[in-house]
Amino acid sequence: MLKGKTALVTGSTSGIGKAIATRLASEGCNIVLNGFGDAGEIDTLKRSLASEHGVMAGYSSADLTRVPAIENMMKYVEDDFGGVDILVNNAGMQFVSPIEDFPVDKWNLIIALNLSAAFHTIRLSFPGMKQKGWGRIINIASAHAKVASPFKSAYVAAKHGISGLTKVTALEGATHGIRCNSICPGYVLTPLVENQVADTAKARGMTEEQVKRDVLLAAQPTKEFVTVEQVAAFTAFLCSPDGDQINGTDLSVDGGWTAQ
Ligand code: NAD
Repeated sequence: MLKGKTALVTGSTSGIGKAIATRLASEGCNIVLNGFGDAGEIDTLKRSLASEHGVMAGYSSADLTRVPAIENMMKYVEDDFGGVDILVNNAGMQFVSPIEDFPVDKWNLIIALNLSAAFHTIRLSFPGMKQKGWGRIINIASAHAKVASPFKSAYVAAKHGISGLTKVTALEGATHGIRCNSICPGYVLTPLVENQVADTAKARGMTEEQVKRDVLLAAQPTKEFVTVEQVAAFTAFLCSPDGDQINGTDLSVDGGWTAQ
């Protein structure tokens, strides 16, 4: 369905991003991976996407907290793949701390990665998308783009910011065939959440099992984690013709969390 298109999926060496890259490759889309991790494992992922799905696959190790690295990554996608058709801003990190103790360097890093990096990839993708008259931008936000939790000041602020960026991008792209939406998952059990479980346990003096049951899934009415495949399938839907009139919205996949 997406044959001939190229998707850049940031933070796709792990968790949700990896599942999105895999799903879009299965739809025939060329994939550019990005993120950190073991070089051998990333190379294996890249090769298996290419061989299993008959697509081109590339990788950028860009640290998205650094603007020059983002600019180099976008140039690489332009030079080797003819530019970005589908941009998935997924890379993100979390840090949990009471606001008065929140380390300033962590605040700056989270805003740079979870918010500013999306601004840079969007601004650098827009000219090519406008020229082609087609583009899909999917920002992986969070239920925390709509509601807050204590101890997550930088994350919640960045995700609320992504919601605003999504709306502006949708309006500016609307008559150019560009659509921009954010997907707002509830808790998905990925390495990011595993780390958060450990941090929250420390911050609140609880066991990790108690955090999962009483803190994370307490907020999620279905009492089930969202799967990475469900987020990936929704992303693919937004890239399909059936998703063409969905624009500028924050779409919840959270088991009813934000209905409360
Ligand atoms: P993850 O930790 O499994 O993956 C994060 C990815 O980002 C990795 O590939 C990592 O290498 C990459 N990354 C980290 N720092 C980077 C940097 N400076 N530059 C480039 N890449 C970097 O996390 P995940 O749970 O899959 O989360 C992915 C996205 O989904 C994040 O934006 C997160 O906020 C969002 N999200 C996750 C959940 C959840 O419950 N897991 C819920 C809602 C939203």
